[in-house]
Amino acid sequence: MNDSTLKPGDTLGLIGGGQLGRMFTQAAQRMGFQVAVIDPDRHCPAAQVGAIPITGRWDDRQTLEKLAQISKATTVEFENIPARALFYLEKLGVACRPGWRGLWVSQNRIREKRFLERLGCPLPFWCEICSESDLDRAARTVGLPLILKTAAEGYDGKGQARVESASQLADAWNSMGQRPCVAESLVQFQAELSIIAGRDQFGAIACHGPMWNHHTHHILDWSIYPSPFGPIITTEAVKIARRVVESLGHVGLMTVELFLTNDGHLIVNELAPRPHNSGHWTIEGSPTSQFDQQARILAGWSIGDTYSSTPACMGNLLGDIWTNGEPAWAESLQADPGIKLHLYGKTSPKPGRKMGHLTVIDTDPRQALARVQAARHTLKSQARPSCQSTSQLA
Ligand code: AMP
Repeated sequence: MNDSTLKPGDTLGLIGGGQLGRMFTQAAQRMGFQVAVIDPDRHCPAAQVGAIPITGRWDDRQTLEKLAQISKATTVEFENIPARALFYLEKLGVACRPGWRGLWVSQNRIREKRFLERLGCPLPFWCEICSESDLDRAARTVGLPLILKTAAEGYDGKGQARVESASQLADAWNSMGQRPCVAESLVQFQAELSIIAGRDQFGAIACHGPMWNHHTHHILDWSIYPSPFGPIITTEAVKIARRVVESLGHVGLMTVELFLTNDGHLIVNELAPRPHNSGHWTIEGSPTSQFDQQARILAGWSIGDTYSSTPACMGNLLGDIWTNGEPAWAESLQADPGIKLHLYGKTSPKPGRKMGHLTVIDTDPRQALARVQAARHTLKSQARPSCQSTSQLA
């Protein structure tokens, strides 16, 4: 062990205290660490479970200095943190895992695609759009229909437009404020997959997944592990994820989102240098959850075992579940006592907002999915009208 190895009782730094930060905090606490979190909200989901709140912005020097005073190593719950914030933390003697490179590459779709292309990873046809003169070329090189995505700050389908004809391109680009974009060919896929690679400071790598992910309105609805697409696809997904983390020298987690095309090969959609919604099932289903892994890597410990032979399904609980009032928690959990409920401590259940999730471990992955769906249906259909919840949704 070297001097960047932490010990229980030490404080781990975290930037961003939403649900990913909350589940990281809980995992780190189980291993005896304390967590200090930078978040603009003093009562963010991570602070609610005991992370020490450092209220402020992650690009503010004084806020970063406060974190550096109490923690020797810092991780992140999202990728849109300026590289200079991590440089500053490192200057103050704080190890950043992941480091700036993984964040810098994945926070901009143009950089990300160039990087993946150099690595020889399979991508949709794409081109960058930085000026009006790029628009014509996009339709010719990428083909139609295409998807236009802002290079920075898009997520869950936000900052995206589907373009059917060349004449719609200029309008679509204008609607994005003429910001730098990528144009991508529309991939004909049979499934969306993800794989979460963890790489420790010694260079050892272990992967969770691939998971099979289903989205509704661009938001993850459910994930199933293992993917039902067989060993060739699993091997290929692992190979891509390993190539990405090795070439970045990444120390931390890296999620690779993939399309499985109709003709049976993988295409990389995007990268996220952090835990991922599709990996929440690992809390119950894997010897080392994605959050345990994040904490182990951050502490400078060696990577944990990720192998799991038990199928699992995770279903998101969006604010929509509150449409008819307070969801029927007791009824749903009584009807299927094997359901695991996770809520993130958020108070305003808006449609599309991730409020929590359910996990089911089952010998049959299809049955795990059916049980998640039945539980969610019970939550909503047997909800009790409550003035507060319904007015918040209005
Ligand atoms: P993203 O924010 O890039 O993950 O996109 C959100 C969702 O849009 C993805 O999960 C896909 O369902 C869909 N999508 C994104 N890019 C493409 C593409 N090139 N072809 C087809 N569907 C796409």
